[in-house]
Amino acid sequence: MKPYLKLAGIRKQFGDMTVLNQVNLDIREGELVTLLGPSGCGKSTLLRCIAGLTELSDGQIWLDDKDIVNLPPCSREIGMVFQSYALFPNMTVSENIGYGMKMRGASKDARRQRAEELLELIDMTDKRDAYPQHLSGGQQQRVALARSLAVQPKVLLLDEPLSALDAKIRKNLRTEIREIQKKFNITTIFVTHDQEEALTLSDRVCLMNKGSIVQQGTPEELYSTPKTEFVARFMGSYN
Ligand code: ADP
Ligand code: MG
Repeated sequence: MKPYLKLAGIRKQFGDMTVLNQVNLDIREGELVTLLGPSGCGKSTLLRCIAGLTELSDGQIWLDDKDIVNLPPCSREIGMVFQSYALFPNMTVSENIGYGMKMRGASKDARRQRAEELLELIDMTDKRDAYPQHLSGGQQQRVALARSLAVQPKVLLLDEPLSALDAKIRKNLRTEIREIQKKFNITTIFVTHDQEEALTLSDRVCLMNKGSIVQQGTPEELYSTPKTEFVARFMGSYN
């Protein structure tokens, strides 16, 4: 099947340090792929390159048959959620969710209606007029997720969205993210350094090390047939 998002020969250097080296990745429409790997292996940089927040040194990116490498971030139809809640502190929850639509010229009514739909989805209609500082970490991440979905992106990039949360909230929100992802059938790349998160959440796992994808496959494949010592150790296959 034809990939919906295709990365080919992605390379990124900062000065003379190569941070991404020949990354190739094909993702199907509606698939949730996890980028898993130790801190510093290049996961965030890869997401930022896809979103257009960081310029590539070399390589190509196609989304839905369109070459997007030279498009500015706002034209790429990609939504992103970061580890630490990046909500606008001076806007209410509802205004935060509607922000992207406002930038695209949507009317106040359209924004409010869309925000209500998404608030219902994340079960936070009672918080529509609250400010971010009065929300818990988990609630802030749900709003960040709703905000990125509001403009109906083609791809959702989630950069360790759960890692700043307590264990219990993290597990609940993990399940919730997967449910929302399936409901919208939205093509998603989920970044984490937590192998358990990757194993339970994804259709496919790409394990990265030092700027390269060292093995990709279903969670079961990576866990039960690791190709290298590094994969076995990282996936906890020996336990
Ligand atoms: P990860 O998200 O997997 O922890 P990153 O993509 O954040 O890794 O970083 C990969 C490597 O690139 C690290 O060595 C980091 O220090 C380096 N790096 C990231 N951003 C920059 C930057 N803007 N300038 C220089 N080096 C950077
Ligand atoms: Mg990172």
